[in-house]
Amino acid sequence: MDVRNCRQCGRLFNYIGGSYRNLCPNCIEALEDKFGEVKQYIEEHRTASIGQVSEECDVSVKQIEQWIREERLTFADDSPIGIACEACGATIKSGRFCENCKNSLASQLGSVYKKESTPTANKNFKDSARMRFLDK
Ligand SMILES: [Zn+2]
Ligand SMILES: [Zn+2]
Repeated sequence: MDVRNCRQCGRLFNYIGGSYRNLCPNCIEALEDKFGEVKQYIEEHRTASIGQVSEECDVSVKQIEQWIREERLTFADDSPIGIACEACGATIKSGRFCENCKNSLASQLGSVYKKESTPTANKNFKDSARMRFLDK
């Protein structure tokens, strides 16, 4: 059994995992209520800044940023709210990386994949596949 102290209220609770680390079920429930409040506030105040949301809803800026990273909160194009891309620091509206970094990360992953399957292996595979087809 994994018993921990709740980071928020200090009570002991049985840790069961999940996206809210080190929070007891009570505090998670309170935080989910807060999330609903923040979401509604943002819908009603589309151009509110992150500081304003934090103050009006009594939620830490850090918590709001976490929700943005988890892509649970989305913002209108004219909203001033943004967080920094984790790779280049560009302002983004949700997630962890900007479009540019997402694309270059994707092509990096692509080249790793290419390195793993060499062109010769690829050709052999294609040939044997064709042969199998002709055998039929
Ligand atoms: Zn708690
Ligand atoms: Zn970036």
